[in-house]
Amino acid sequence: MADSKRDYYEVLGVDKNADDETLKKAYRALAKKYHPDANPGDKEAEAKFKEASEAYAVLSDKEKRARYDQFGHAAFDGGAGGGGGFDFTDMDLGDIFGDLFGSFGFGGFGSGSRRRAANNGPMKGANIRTSVRLTFMEAVFGCKKEIELNVKDECKSCKGSGAKAGTTPQTCSTCGGKGQVVRSRNSAFGIMRSVETCPDCRGTGKIIADRCPDCRGTGYITIKKRYSVDFPAGIDNGQAVSLAELGDPGTNGGPRGDVRVEAVVDKHPVFERDGFDIYSLVPISYAVAALGGPVLVDTVDGKVIYDVKAGTQTDTRIRLKGKGVPSWRNKNQRGDHYITLVVKTPDKMSAEAKELLRKFDELTGDSLHAAEKASSGSEPKEKGSRKKKLF
Ligand SMILES: [Zn+2]
Ligand SMILES: [Zn+2]
Repeated sequence: MADSKRDYYEVLGVDKNADDETLKKAYRALAKKYHPDANPGDKEAEAKFKEASEAYAVLSDKEKRARYDQFGHAAFDGGAGGGGGFDFTDMDLGDIFGDLFGSFGFGGFGSGSRRRAANNGPMKGANIRTSVRLTFMEAVFGCKKEIELNVKDECKSCKGSGAKAGTTPQTCSTCGGKGQVVRSRNSAFGIMRSVETCPDCRGTGKIIADRCPDCRGTGYITIKKRYSVDFPAGIDNGQAVSLAELGDPGTNGGPRGDVRVEAVVDKHPVFERDGFDIYSLVPISYAVAALGGPVLVDTVDGKVIYDVKAGTQTDTRIRLKGKGVPSWRNKNQRGDHYITLVVKTPDKMSAEAKELLRKFDELTGDSLHAAEKASSGSEPKEKGSRKKKLF
């Protein structure tokens, strides 16, 4: 399969070890050169601009860069039958360009939530992000949590207009109600046109002479809302549940933003989790390891009995099939629980137990002590340091 895409490092003209500052500088130079505003109608420039933007979006993101370094472009292929290509959906162009071009006067991209649709049309409201702490077990089996959030709501006094009762907002004369103005300016790249948020109405398209005292002209008040959040069984640390359209209100009839609730999962004293699998250490006695026998093993379902095989070595790993974390992808699937049997060497023993172990050592006859005894024919009388080391 031929990979027609150029290497991201090559696109930006930097080497593989380039730091963030170098990447940014390289991208800034390319973006300035090929930006569509500076090259109206130039398809090749546009393609170059997109290529550079894509390269920068990946390489400036630590996680994506690591994936790219490992897998190349395949890291971002859309999976089976997906046709490949880079997924721009989780790339916030506004942030990149707001950051890069803020000082150049490129408008239109704005910064984050201030961005507006071209004609002041319906816009979805801002997403609200929050996080909730879950115990290990809550994450494994799922849970319901109540959260309280500060959410914007329409001001009842002015019904969201922002104008004092009895008055109405006037259409902004600067932008004619569009909320945006087009600015032309001379720059190093020729005349550049840019769309900017109207400075007089700040993009609302309306001018309020008398502000509503309850919301100070914003049209919104902030209220506390309680939501119940269902965390599905199997949710992992860092994963989020989305409450669709329960965030801040949209503008011009747009829907509310979403609430994204991230799960912050506590560590467990015994279990460790990797995806849907669980790992734990199970100490077993020397005798059980040698002779075999049942041991109690903690799992997320409670204690289960596992029959240790005779002659088990320490660090033997056993799979308890289906005893792992339920999958939130498929309710009928569960991961596995891997236990590592660790043979515990006894450190506190009664005199009788020690004597029996010495006897055992003599019978199995492969230790230094046993070998010494066999060659000298008698046990040393004094309690020497060597003996202490051996037992
Ligand atoms: Zn109001
Ligand atoms: Zn205006």
